[in-house]
Amino acid sequence: MEDVTGDDDTGRALSTRLVHHSYRPPQDFDAVPPGVFKASTVLFPNVSAMRQRDWRDKSAYTYGLHGTPTTFVLEERIATLEGASHCVLTPSGLSAIALVDQVFLRSGDQILIPDNAYGPGLAFARAELKAWGIECDVYDPMDPADLAARITSATRLVWLEAAGSVSLEFPDLHALMEVVRSANKARKGQTSDSFERLILTALDNTWGAGVAFAPFDYGVDIVAHALTKYPSGGADVLMGSVTTRDDRLHHNILMTHMRLGLGVGANDAELVLRGLSSIEARYQIQDAHTHELALWMQEQKAVAKVFHPAMPDSPGHAFWTRDCRGAAALFSVAFAPHHSSEQVDAFCDALKLFRLGYSWAGPMSLCVPYDMRQMRCREWSGSPYVVRFAVGLEAVDDLKADLQQALQVFDT
Ligand SMILES: *Cc1c(COP(=O)(O)O)cnc(C)c1O
Repeated sequence: MEDVTGDDDTGRALSTRLVHHSYRPPQDFDAVPPGVFKASTVLFPNVSAMRQRDWRDKSAYTYGLHGTPTTFVLEERIATLEGASHCVLTPSGLSAIALVDQVFLRSGDQILIPDNAYGPGLAFARAELKAWGIECDVYDPMDPADLAARITSATRLVWLEAAGSVSLEFPDLHALMEVVRSANKARKGQTSDSFERLILTALDNTWGAGVAFAPFDYGVDIVAHALTKYPSGGADVLMGSVTTRDDRLHHNILMTHMRLGLGVGANDAELVLRGLSSIEARYQIQDAHTHELALWMQEQKAVAKVFHPAMPDSPGHAFWTRDCRGAAALFSVAFAPHHSSEQVDAFCDALKLFRLGYSWAGPMSLCVPYDMRQMRCREWSGSPYVVRFAVGLEAVDDLKADLQQALQVFDT
């Protein structure tokens, strides 16, 4: 083999010659997928380069945790998906949420979270944030006046989520943002460094996925996204992202992300890059199938109510109509009150194509039964036994037939 460096390694042992092998492939390889680069250590040609390189503006590489060509490419594509200018990747959607909290909250601050938020994010606030002296309050996302009433001088971060978890209410994002804007207007007069004192807004965009609506257009400061769901689409990888349009916010996020040692593996980034190209097509077909199944379920006699933002009597339907194109792959069903929780469980067990499992936006349809009384701070009106369906990529008629055969458990 040709020795391109001219290094003379004769006399060195085999293990040394394998590790320090001098062959380099030609540099101009180009293909549709970006390359998968794996590294902890990144090599420098000399000490001066080692001291000068800066990874923060993506102009160079210093260490695997600070970025590789593969993670830089994925960050830039996620930023494009969200309409953002900056992105950091985290090991899961939940860690993206927790990162935002850790970057911007300090002891004595208050965080406001919608009552129908993704549960584990709320759990992080109630356990870790509380232990760190950060107060967590929960607001009714369907009542902007409730949000306004809960904002105090300590409020630093307001989370938004559209649609809500399981019950899929679609909030009036414009009105909620207006509440925060007017609270910030009142604060601006009182402080010189507004950046340190203003209320920041963060939105969990996993449901909209960058396809259904554009959170930054509402003035949201930060967007978190479980790339585990739509961007991957494969049910085979866990990842999250935090994006922003603001340089200063991004700098804070990036530095805390670095100090916490959060990073993602190259193979995981590759899987998300692979899924990302088809995100819009998958979103649309799963959306169409989900809407069809939700409409069909509404007609079944065991069913009391279907939650799906595209259904006219689903909470917040008018805001969904105003703001969104598409309603994702989720719908939830409350069964008629005379049906027992045992019957609802038996219905879930009877399903053959809808498998029992958490997560969504993958190829396989899934369901999870919930007791809504254990899920909300506010009182839950109506039947508490709710099944959330996540529609996969199977043929819609097969899924309908599966629901139909399983609904027979309510006849007995
Ligand atoms: C799944 C999900 C998350 C968390 O993502 P993980 O990668 O599973 O940690 C956060 N928010 C929403 C809305 C989700 O659906």
